[in-house]
Amino acid sequence: MKILTVNGGSSSLKFNAIELPEEKELISGYFEKIGLEGSFYNIKINGEKVKHEVPLKNHMDAVEYLKKELFDNHIIESLDEIDGVGHRIVHGGDKFDHSVLVTDEVIKELDSVVDLAPLHNPPMVECIKAFKNIMPDTPMVVVFDTAFHQSMDIEEYLYPVPYEWYTEYGVRKYGFHGTSHRYIAKSAAELLGRDDLKIISCHIGSGASVCAIDAGKVVDTSMGFTPLAGVMMGTRSGDVDPSIIPYVMKKTGETCEEVVNDLNKKSGLLGVSGVSNDSRDIEDGIANGNERCVLAQNIFCKKVANYIAMYNNELNGADVIVLTAGLGENSSATRAGILKNIASLGVKLDESVNNFRGETRKITTEDSKIPVYVIPTNEELMIALDTYEIISNQ
Ligand code: AMP
Repeated sequence: MKILTVNGGSSSLKFNAIELPEEKELISGYFEKIGLEGSFYNIKINGEKVKHEVPLKNHMDAVEYLKKELFDNHIIESLDEIDGVGHRIVHGGDKFDHSVLVTDEVIKELDSVVDLAPLHNPPMVECIKAFKNIMPDTPMVVVFDTAFHQSMDIEEYLYPVPYEWYTEYGVRKYGFHGTSHRYIAKSAAELLGRDDLKIISCHIGSGASVCAIDAGKVVDTSMGFTPLAGVMMGTRSGDVDPSIIPYVMKKTGETCEEVVNDLNKKSGLLGVSGVSNDSRDIEDGIANGNERCVLAQNIFCKKVANYIAMYNNELNGADVIVLTAGLGENSSATRAGILKNIASLGVKLDESVNNFRGETRKITTEDSKIPVYVIPTNEELMIALDTYEIISNQ
């Protein structure tokens, strides 16, 4: 079966075509600056990447180019050869605890949770409509970033705030990166040959979250009502005292939205270092003696380590810790920094194996109390597998 996976942002669209059950990637692409000046897309096939600069007025234009690339590269000869399309959706509220087939009813339900993700969900729904336009009869599936975390208990997802905020307005912890954490839970279970594992999954990329999982059930996760909460990230602050917001508003004259935007876009590694949100630039800064880069890196590693220690407690002792996503897979300095800060758990880094990128590997010594693995995440494959399973059981 040929499955397309689609991840639509407000001005971007990522896609992959995957052959299942072989799990073979056929082609992938990334459209950027949709609706803006300087729009373009990249196509990756057989390990080669080609860039095309083209005007993209809207997502429909991107979908037309995507279709053309599928034909020109002989991935398909007819659109009927696409057996299903899996769409990533950021927020499913508390209505969706698993991936579902797209129906008119589901589209209506998605509209009803739009308040919870006003920036993220609408462009993703636009993408579904654009694909429905060119392949009205192809089954489509939606896969939610929040769904995996719906298995959390109320003691973990309820904030200690007026209870009516939860019952009336849906204020609670939702958690994000669920597709990645679910992939990590599945891969760790396969790797270690056990489905009862207590796992601490650390998705540390430009966005970052830590998730405690017990036998496939989420016990706790660091992102919250929105992806702003939890550990420090590339440009997001992670947890801060909310009283900072009115204080900074008074000092700077900014609106509440502007200060929250600062916490989302000007904080984290970027805010502390003043250099970049990208850990490669932070590592260069450290090599050149930039003290704020040192500070940014140290705070980042401590924040992740502290969540790991907290989740080790919540799990009553983890069986395995997994590092994944951009930094987890590629930055040996960040891996070493995090592990140094969880030495109290008896975790011991094996420095002789830590210098690598993008592979599945154990990075702790044999006598480490908890083994730590690096496992590259694959959200696209997870989306494709869900789509395959749902349409095969129709
Ligand atoms: P992601 O959001 O998972 O794509 O992660 C992107 C982030 O991973 C980048 O912003 C970098 O901070 C980090 N990253 C990617 N490659 C490397 C690398 N080779 N060394 C250090 N950090 C990296």
